[in-house]
Amino acid sequence: MIRLYVSSDLAPGSAVAPTLDQSRYLTQVMRLKVGDDLLAFNGRDGEWRAEVAEVLKKGVILRVVEQTRPQIFGPDLELIVAVVKKARVETIVEKAAELGARHVRLVLTRRTNADRLRLDRLDAIAEEAAEQTGRLDVPPVDNPVRLDALLDGWDEGRRLMFCDETGGAPAIDALMAAAQAAGQTVEQAGGGGKWAILIGPEGGFSPEEGERLRALPFATRVSLGPRILRADTAAIAAMTLWQAAVGDWER
Ligand code: SAH
Repeated sequence: MIRLYVSSDLAPGSAVAPTLDQSRYLTQVMRLKVGDDLLAFNGRDGEWRAEVAEVLKKGVILRVVEQTRPQIFGPDLELIVAVVKKARVETIVEKAAELGARHVRLVLTRRTNADRLRLDRLDAIAEEAAEQTGRLDVPPVDNPVRLDALLDGWDEGRRLMFCDETGGAPAIDALMAAAQAAGQTVEQAGGGGKWAILIGPEGGFSPEEGERLRALPFATRVSLGPRILRADTAAIAAMTLWQAAVGDWER
């Protein structure tokens, strides 16, 4: 069934107006008619069955019928990536939504070669990817901030998986050991333990940045194998390894 992310509140009987693009998708691509069903979620109220109540020139109106699932969130995993080329950032945001990151943060580093990014476009990519996965929240994508500022304001209860091509430990073992040392049970890591993954820019981290990152008490420095990966590939590999080691994948 079609799943649609909407921003309005969802409650029995309420009317919801999807965006013009979504309306076009529903009526022109999926050919929905008045009375047809779909699923709607907003990241707060769970998932609801809704039906097409009206098809107007300026979009469709949905009527919310009943809740199909209560609101749930996946593991508390943030993905922090240095700003890279626009197309790669778009891939990273889509894959972060698919692989279960709760939040995407973009950072500026010494060697960041920043393309101008359109946050609204990145949000739309995250929403579409979330619709497709079946998850009930959409990872927000934040405006880029400086890496130093992000580290200055770090919540020390959140572990950092620092992906370092210059010599980190094998990822799965290091993540499991770090989760255990932090007192996280498998259930907590999958649902309660707080983590973030850090991926650097195409030029890598500068020596000063590397030094600071290696000294952080909350960081686990990991390798993603013997080959140097592009940032988008590294992000996908890191999220996969994290999910397999301490995330919500069944073991
Ligand atoms: N400094 C590199 C390229 C950096 S790749 C160069 O030689 O140009 C971009 C980012 O992806 C890195 O900062 C790192 O966070 C991550 N990455 C890529 N390959 C990796 C690997 N094999 N192990 C760990 N991290 C990796």
